[in-house]
Amino acid sequence: MNKLFLYNSLTRKKQEFKPIKKGAVGLYTCGPTVYNYAHIGNLRSYIFEDILKRVLLYNGYKVKHVINITDVGHLTGDMDMGEDKLEVGAKREGKSARAIAEFYTNAFKKDIKKLNILEPDVWCKATDYIKEQIDLIKALEKKGYTYKTSDGIYYDTAKFKNYNKLSHLPLEKLKEGARVEKNLEKKNPTDFALWKFSPKIPLTPFDKGGKIVKRQQEWPSPWGVGFPGWHIECSAMSLAILKDQLDIHCGGIDHINVHHTNEIAQSEAATGKKFFNFWLHNAFLNIAGGKKMAKSEENFLTLENALIKKGINPLAFRFAALGTHYRKPMEYSEEGIRAAGNGLKHLGNQMRDLTPALSLARRGSINADFKKKFLEAINDDLNMPQALAVAQEVLKSKLADKEKLAAVLDFDKVLGLNLASALKEKKLPAQVEKLAEARQAARNKKDFSKSDKLRKKIEKLGYLVEDTKDGQRVIKNNCRIVISSVSEKSL
Ligand code: AMP
Ligand code: ZN
Repeated sequence: MNKLFLYNSLTRKKQEFKPIKKGAVGLYTCGPTVYNYAHIGNLRSYIFEDILKRVLLYNGYKVKHVINITDVGHLTGDMDMGEDKLEVGAKREGKSARAIAEFYTNAFKKDIKKLNILEPDVWCKATDYIKEQIDLIKALEKKGYTYKTSDGIYYDTAKFKNYNKLSHLPLEKLKEGARVEKNLEKKNPTDFALWKFSPKIPLTPFDKGGKIVKRQQEWPSPWGVGFPGWHIECSAMSLAILKDQLDIHCGGIDHINVHHTNEIAQSEAATGKKFFNFWLHNAFLNIAGGKKMAKSEENFLTLENALIKKGINPLAFRFAALGTHYRKPMEYSEEGIRAAGNGLKHLGNQMRDLTPALSLARRGSINADFKKKFLEAINDDLNMPQALAVAQEVLKSKLADKEKLAAVLDFDKVLGLNLASALKEKKLPAQVEKLAEARQAARNKKDFSKSDKLRKKIEKLGYLVEDTKDGQRVIKNNCRIVISSVSEKSL
């Protein structure tokens, strides 16, 4: 197996990746909080994770990929203050929290499909794992890591050694960040809720009709009726589903100091074992001026608004994301996205300009030197800008057309730009294809007079025939048309 190096936020180094079980990888990627549409910043995160998964698959690993759906417990303030985002969404739209979750989960699934993101092996919803979350809190309680306040059960971060091992920040800095939202009953500013009690006096006490607004989602627990904190869901679900395959855990960099730090603290305290060996984080997508795109800032753009409504292929966003290393900030601008759209179109045209058809490309051999270069790029902490450059090198090289196609289509298993479909975009009409097939057969038998007659027939139908070293190429009005399987000389 090739060596794969990944930047691990835990060690702050590029490290050789080795899975716990030989040949198989457990991958957990923090999923969406489904109270609104995903914005293209969120989608950058899922594209990065998809690339990671494809790189693992390309390296021959079997991957078990889990994405969670946060449908309860994520509060508007990250430090356990404010309202549950799902309840906010439900009020905003006058629907049940469950209906909101279902609607935005489906919207999310549609978005990732448009971006050619592979579906995970397991989707898991926080509300389906309440028992596992309660069990984990019970284990923490037994070991003395919890305490009770008037609004919930909290984790005592002072009891966990190396609480800052992921953030690498001095504890004082972490505390400062946490002090933004005051909760006087907490022992330490960094402590976080494991279980929140349903408020006796609702945070927004009255709806428009003057009735007391009750939480929609709540469950009984040994500590009282309530709901789980946000961080506990990812610990409980990854432990339950991936078990002893805690290889890689991902998310955006905003998860490092709070969400992932807390996941590690509670999981390692409860199990006494290391929780995930590799932690990978993507940098933000910012809007002009370096401001993070965020749902709470209301500055966010969905895939629909930023691309589809403007007639830009959604995969242009994937292409743009590939052009920036995942650990570097990416700046959004409409011009930038349009340029990426043109770049993607150009790549499709370069592919269509090659003679052989898809069926032939599959029979072309993949040049070992270029494959090595491509692997070196992707295995160097997912250097996708470099990987794209290797694909361009192939297209500009002296390789035979079918070998170029074979290589680039092989690379597309990682790039995920759906380049095979770009090839299929313009097909020859059946009549022309039949004539071209007959012409190739005539040429193979060296029957050049028949071949000439067939050329004329093809030209009468408005197509031109060129003979190249790889076989014939059929062209219409300056626009290249992919020729069918007849282009191979051996036919
Ligand atoms: P959320 O739905 O808010 O829980 O976020 C889903 C994923 O998107 C998380 O991994 C976040 O870290 C990530 N994320 C949020 N905002 C951005 C952004 N502007 N750029 C890149 N990733 C982001
Ligand atoms: Zn998570």
